Amino acid sequence: MSTTYTVVNPATEEAVVEVHLADLAETDAAIERAAEAFPAWRDMAPGDRATLLRRFAAIVDEHVDELAELEVRNSGHTWGNATWEARNVRDVLNYYSAAPERLTGHQIPVAGGINVTFHEPLGVVGIIVPWNFPMPIAGWGFGPALAAGNTVVLKPAELTPLTAVRLGELAREAGVPEGVFTVIPGKGSIVGERFVTHPAVRKVCFTGSTEVGKKIMAGAADQVKRVTLELGGKSANIVFADADLAKAAAAAPSAVFDNAGQDCCARSRILVERSAYDEFVALLEPAVKGVKVLDPSDRTSEMGPLISAAQRSTVQGFVDEVEVAFAGSSPDGSGFWFAPTVVLAGDTQQRIWREEVFGPVVAVMPFDSEEDAVRLANDTEFGLSGSIFTRDLGRALRVSRGVEAGNLSVNSHSSVRYWTPFGGFKQSGLGRELGPDAPHSFTDVKNVFLSND
Ligand code: NAD
Repeated sequence: MSTTYTVVNPATEEAVVEVHLADLAETDAAIERAAEAFPAWRDMAPGDRATLLRRFAAIVDEHVDELAELEVRNSGHTWGNATWEARNVRDVLNYYSAAPERLTGHQIPVAGGINVTFHEPLGVVGIIVPWNFPMPIAGWGFGPALAAGNTVVLKPAELTPLTAVRLGELAREAGVPEGVFTVIPGKGSIVGERFVTHPAVRKVCFTGSTEVGKKIMAGAADQVKRVTLELGGKSANIVFADADLAKAAAAAPSAVFDNAGQDCCARSRILVERSAYDEFVALLEPAVKGVKVLDPSDRTSEMGPLISAAQRSTVQGFVDEVEVAFAGSSPDGSGFWFAPTVVLAGDTQQRIWREEVFGPVVAVMPFDSEEDAVRLANDTEFGLSGSIFTRDLGRALRVSRGVEAGNLSVNSHSSVRYWTPFGGFKQSGLGRELGPDAPHSFTDVKNVFLSND
């Protein structure tokens, strides 16, 4: 039986388009086509594979506006964010298009011959994408996976399939052979689970909730299937009294309210040294009230709606449990709007302090010493990102080394850079994406000894 999903514009609540959801048989057929396409893609001359990836990047570049418009309508992302996201796919493809000719192994000294290593592609890689950043997260998987010589099947989130489907079409236009990169819209319980159970899929690259990530890791054990997991976060923004407080307060809203807070790296806990707490909170209020929450297609919009009515009621549930200190504004009428909201956290056991809200809500808490700040920042099962604001270089170094998180920035909230590694400590994930080593995570090392005899 054929099923469809109606994509809804989160800013207007209007239906955009019906998307066909793949069933099990269609998923198996796509995986089998990807397995058949693998040997030729693996054996293609590295320079030819690189040329195809560069052509794919060039076609994405020609379609940046179209892809961005799709994302504004499908996901409610602001125009500024959506164009950045489409360009990020282009940049990731360009960056990893330099990988095929550079996927070198070692030559290791041995007696009686030579010893060499090869980075062999795995086969079919299954990529499972969440709804919060449909384009970049897809590209972070398929860019290096394809460059390393794997074929890819990719499942977008049910809510946000449109840009992924278009990227699949653009790959074909670029000349990427049939079966090498296939986008399969469908349910997590059908398409996503099949990536885990189908023996031809040799690695699952999953980004999403920690809860589903654990199930995928457990399922993958059955076939000793490789996994990369990018999961949830509850990142801390630590502001010391010696910091440029005006700069720290001005930067704090975008670090948590970007993408309406639906960001695994959202700095959703702000820790402020007690002696600067009152001044920081006073500076934060106008910064939060100044966030332009507007129709995302308005080029000046800084924050759009939440993805769905369900997500809005989840976020509201967190806020109902606490007292709001102050909030910004949001449009009235249709759309899944939620105003940027600030809570002064009472204790570390509150849900707002411990759990990922995935909405535009931030909790602020004072701390008393450097040790206290590191202890509070680490008092979470997550470990994805974080920021440290201080003018003391030694402290910046000590705290950066002390905070258990994969991606930290000092006196900034740097976003993800495709040429640096990205991933989580603790329950925020396993493995790393992006950066110079990402193609290696889509290969296995083969060690070969060639005798002199
Ligand atoms: P989710 O876990 O509900 O879904 C993610 C994807 O997994 C979707 O495509 C979904 O269809 C699929 N899925 C669901 N159940 C599945 C199953 N049993 N087997 C296989 N696939 C299944 O997450 P979401 O709500 O779409 O995304 C939000 C979450 O993603 C947040 O927790 C956020 O922190 C996390 N996230 C992490 C990163 C990171 O890089 N660490 C980046 C973005 C989002």
